[in-house]
Amino acid sequence: AKHQGRNRFNYFTAAMQATAQARLQLAGELRIALAEGQFVVHYQPIVDLKTGEIRKAEALVRWQHPVHGLLNPGEFLALSEETGLIVEIGDWVFHQAARQAELWRSRYRSDFQIGVNKSAAQFHDEKKKIQPGNSTQWEHAGAALAVEITEALLLDSSPLVAEKIMELRNAGVQIAIDDFGTGYSSLAYLRKFEIDYLKIHESFIHQMAPHGNDMALCEAIIVMAHKLGIKVVAEGVETPIQRDWLVSAGCDYGQGYLFSHPLPAEEFEALLNTRLRA
Ligand code: C2E
Ligand code: CA
Ligand code: CA
Repeated sequence: AKHQGRNRFNYFTAAMQATAQARLQLAGELRIALAEGQFVVHYQPIVDLKTGEIRKAEALVRWQHPVHGLLNPGEFLALSEETGLIVEIGDWVFHQAARQAELWRSRYRSDFQIGVNKSAAQFHDEKKKIQPGNSTQWEHAGAALAVEITEALLLDSSPLVAEKIMELRNAGVQIAIDDFGTGYSSLAYLRKFEIDYLKIHESFIHQMAPHGNDMALCEAIIVMAHKLGIKVVAEGVETPIQRDWLVSAGCDYGQGYLFSHPLPAEEFEALLNTRLRA
């Protein structure tokens, strides 16, 4: 499947980089995908590093393409953003995640939470106000959701961004910083916005070596976050050694192939009652 995935990737990236016509065709396919319900959401566990229990999940969109099979966001997200279709796709993912989070809260544990990605393009392209018709569908599920945004968005000084973040917070949605450490070095936004957790980018975790700079940085990030009352998720945890380092550094949660790949909802649910002590 991995090999096939690579071929599909080549096909789509090639098309993306090719002619305006190829891109137009892809954009058309994206519209059809929305209308015909070809998108699916996979869920990747976020695990309490000390106990191995699943505490959260991240919702990751996939496109079940009728010809090219299951496509990862890397193959269609950029064009979705360029065409503005990301707003509708994002809304759909949000509603799926809200429904799923409520279900798993009732079946599994009441504090279970799902993180949903929201790109800068979504913040800017959405109509100024979240439409009442839209928001009521998930507003009651607010506490079951987190929105994952990147540092760059928080450096955007437009009042629209701040307003939308407030709107989400008011609905009880938590705010997480995605890919922490790869963006800008300014930490001023940690003062301006209330952040619930931050996710250390996988590049820090992968290059971790004893006494190395990445290890030191991870430790510093964790200490700083905890002093600010912010929880920390390590992304891209792939080995038990990385997991053990993170535990000793006091990191709260881990996400990565060591625990599980992103899974379809039914497979994720089967995992929910197992302890992921890898
Ligand atoms: P992200 O938010 O940083 O998501 C984590 C990515 O890392 C996912 O890739 C996930 O499958 C992958 N990953 C998980 N564990 C490991 C690991 O142990 N090692 C490595 N090397 N990678 C791991 P994916 O699903 O291909 O998503 C790529 C990006 O697409 C996401 O990066 C996110 O920025 C974006 N994305 C995904 N779903 C959505 C969505 O619904 N809306 C928006 N706006 N963006 C999305
Ligand atoms: Ca994310
Ligand atoms: Ca990330």
